[in-house]
Amino acid sequence: MKKESLAMQNLPPYLFARIEKRIADAKAKGIDIINLGIGDPDQPTPPHIIKRMAEAITDPANHQYPSSVGLLEFRKTVAQWYQTRFGVEVDPDSEVVSLLGSKEGIAHISFAYLDKGDISLVPDPGYPVYGVGTLLAGGVPHIMPLKVENAYLPVLEDIPSDVAGKAKLMFLCYPNNPTGAVADLRFFNKVVEFAKSYDILVCHDGPYSEVAFDGLKVPSFLEAQGAKDVGIEFHSLSKTYNMTGWRLGWAVGNPEVIEVLGRFKSNVDSGVFQAIQFAGIEALQGPQDCVRDMQLIYEQRRDVVQAGLEKMGWQITPPRGSLYFWVPVPKGHSSESFAELVLEKAGVIITPGNGYGENGEGYFRIALTVSSDRMKEAFERMAHNIGKVEF
Ligand SMILES: *Cc1c(COP(=O)(O)O)cnc(C)c1O
Repeated sequence: MKKESLAMQNLPPYLFARIEKRIADAKAKGIDIINLGIGDPDQPTPPHIIKRMAEAITDPANHQYPSSVGLLEFRKTVAQWYQTRFGVEVDPDSEVVSLLGSKEGIAHISFAYLDKGDISLVPDPGYPVYGVGTLLAGGVPHIMPLKVENAYLPVLEDIPSDVAGKAKLMFLCYPNNPTGAVADLRFFNKVVEFAKSYDILVCHDGPYSEVAFDGLKVPSFLEAQGAKDVGIEFHSLSKTYNMTGWRLGWAVGNPEVIEVLGRFKSNVDSGVFQAIQFAGIEALQGPQDCVRDMQLIYEQRRDVVQAGLEKMGWQITPPRGSLYFWVPVPKGHSSESFAELVLEKAGVIITPGNGYGENGEGYFRIALTVSSDRMKEAFERMAHNIGKVEF
């Protein structure tokens, strides 16, 4: 067989493979595993959204190829949602494109913008797709370290000016996966200034905008002054409405970029099944109490995790948004050795931080995607079998 492309060969190794093997082994032995590693909501999609899907699926008009940029009605709904939620004006005709989940758009933006050797600025630790999309497109990721002392925001001044001058894309994500950090409008304003001075296209990934706690309303990147001149925002229904399996997202913002991304997509896919778009319209336009219910469930679990960690000796600020706690490993451990210890001693899966980039070493991630009861049990087992931790 012919060899895969160099770009494929050169992708970083999949760091979770080893832990996945251990999970499989433990399960085979009949050990009751509690998985705190899953970045996928465990709650079902709200019933009114499913009902709308069920209706739409019987309409033959929805059985044909959809428009690759999305139904105008869907794009209008997204625009209306941006207006209502963020006070941001976007033109549904030229500034919104539907996506097969935001991951699809995040990966493809690199293909639409990078030539061989072009640089994209990538947060580390971060969602792996930013760097992987860059590499598959032949580009070169330049890492922006996210550090606790900078509240997990990249320090723009630390990006060498020759790198910034050559960079075409910058990826950002707030509320952040995996660190749980949130960004304020002041930071986004700084990003716009930076992007303007170096002519960089900012790609803000915002799927967790509604996964924020204690009434916090996080801003959209597009609320920043002049954001639409330099960037776009990726978003989706996945986290807000427990719809990861449905594959419906969007990009909004700069009309030139939206046109390019739409043109790229029209050459590689044929858009989102229309019945799913109608379900998406229902999600964004319908009753929103399901969003508050979702937040309350995660707030409760956040408190369980916080108490559990504190009891074992961690001092940690709880996340204000996202589904994640980002926690330093105890003294004498690497991310992987600690994840293995927790699995072995407690039957609990945590995600080793080095899977999110070199700056993730020394951390692990806990996701709020299992019930409070199971979470309590996970921490009881850890406290009992591992005991107090030291740093
Ligand atoms: C979950 C997630 C997404 C959303 O992906 P979809 O393709 O829309 O399901 C995007 N970015 C990050 C960082 C995520 O964690």
